[in-house]
Amino acid sequence: MNDEPKKFANWRREMVERQIIARGVTDPLVTDAMNRVPRHLFVSEALVDSAYGDFPLPIGEGQTISQPYIIAEMTQCLELQGTERVLEIGTGSGYQAAVLSRIVYKVYTIERNNTLFLQTRKLFDRLKYHNIVTRYSDGTQGWQEESPFDAIIVTAGGNQVPPPLVDQLAVGGCLVMPVGGQLTQDLIKLKKTESGVETTNLGGCRFVKLIGQHGWSQ
Ligand code: SAH
Repeated sequence: MNDEPKKFANWRREMVERQIIARGVTDPLVTDAMNRVPRHLFVSEALVDSAYGDFPLPIGEGQTISQPYIIAEMTQCLELQGTERVLEIGTGSGYQAAVLSRIVYKVYTIERNNTLFLQTRKLFDRLKYHNIVTRYSDGTQGWQEESPFDAIIVTAGGNQVPPPLVDQLAVGGCLVMPVGGQLTQDLIKLKKTESGVETTNLGGCRFVKLIGQHGWSQ
């Protein structure tokens, strides 16, 4: 990674300045992490030169890696300090998990597509991202044995926040997830308190489908 062509570090810096900080995501933990993770290694060879563009990209299996700004906004929403254990649903290319892993203590990430699961596990090993734990299963059921989590991020859209995820979130923790229809959703932030949950709507978004027991059926 240290011997990557200089252009990538320049593209990353531009991405962070123009797409992220300029639009109001300024948490230094988030911007530093996004300056460090080589996004071009999370897309196919053919898309390497588009990896730092201001748009989502296909990652195979009909799935997509979100636009950098959305990743930054969702990550900032989790209100991280650095000591957390975070659960991600929808590993996909692994980019979101990689960004989280540069900020927090440990990332637990679940993927339901076996091809993506295997491919991304290999990439984490290659990049020596040793604080990412992966699992091949239906993430709408969460990861009971490792709960509670200090923060939870769902990177696919469902018609509701899966109840097991709310159960597995620690009090004081934040969960962020796209909720709505199959084509468009609203980005929802939920904060768990002693007395219940507080929900904030962060506005419209468009994600691939969350498929599983507490998501879409297919
Ligand atoms: N965070 C990813 C985004 C990938 S797209 C990234 O940074 O690239 C969303 C992913 O969610 C897809 O890979 C899809 O297969 C996965 N997914 C959908 N429903 C799921 C479920 N119930 N459990 C786990 N993964 C799921």
